[in-house]
Amino acid sequence: MKFILTGSGTSQGVPVIGCKCQVCQSADPRDKRLRTSGVLQSERTTLVFDTGPDFRQQMLRAGITRLDAVVFTHEHQDHVAGLDDVRPFFFRQGEDLPIYALPRVQKRLRLAYDYAFEKNPYHGVPRFQISDIGEMPFQVGDIELLPIPLLHGKLPVLGFRADDFAYLTDTNFIPDSSKEKLHGLKFLVLDALHHNKHYSHFTLEEALEVVEELQPEQTYFIHMSHLMGNHEQVEAHLPTGVSLGFDGLELLW
Ligand SMILES: [Zn+2]
Ligand SMILES: [Zn+2]
Repeated sequence: MKFILTGSGTSQGVPVIGCKCQVCQSADPRDKRLRTSGVLQSERTTLVFDTGPDFRQQMLRAGITRLDAVVFTHEHQDHVAGLDDVRPFFFRQGEDLPIYALPRVQKRLRLAYDYAFEKNPYHGVPRFQISDIGEMPFQVGDIELLPIPLLHGKLPVLGFRADDFAYLTDTNFIPDSSKEKLHGLKFLVLDALHHNKHYSHFTLEEALEVVEELQPEQTYFIHMSHLMGNHEQVEAHLPTGVSLGFDGLELLW
């Protein structure tokens, strides 16, 4: 299996337009962050976690030519704004594109993309086949995903585990019942916004406490804002087995 971190940044994107800070001005490609999303790929199946506003660019950059499903973590705009850009996959593959989402998230998608859900849609719009997900494991092709319920501020959202890999974005609270599902991880990909307290994202310090508790073999932080600091400088102070994620990072197992 392969995981490609297609975006590791936050809603404004880094660099932030017009910002003169050292992160936004950095020449290090690891400091250039599109909105957070990731592709999970087996030999037969390719799925993407979320379709944010940078979706099209991310798929081109990662060389993704087939998409079997979109799996949504939650409905915030930085995670759903690119859904219309699945068109090339939809047309080439010739079948309704499977979407997996919480019922609340589906409601948001049906509102935002009402034209794609009409009975007699305009020719050329993408069509979807939506499935409910909750706490039960589900299968996308030959990939089994275990939903990991999380809180993102007050909003219940989902992380996902596949084998010994877990993807937990947009969260600042992992319930004990979910922590029980996160033992024995080889790879943990985890939200760490920046250093200052935030109402719906882990700070770097809080994320490090989660790592301490869950003890995954290797952790990569994601959904970082430009206030996190330069990749090189921040990473130099992280414990062994903990790194900052960066766009294009690939994990294999
Ligand atoms: Zn969010
Ligand atoms: Zn987000």
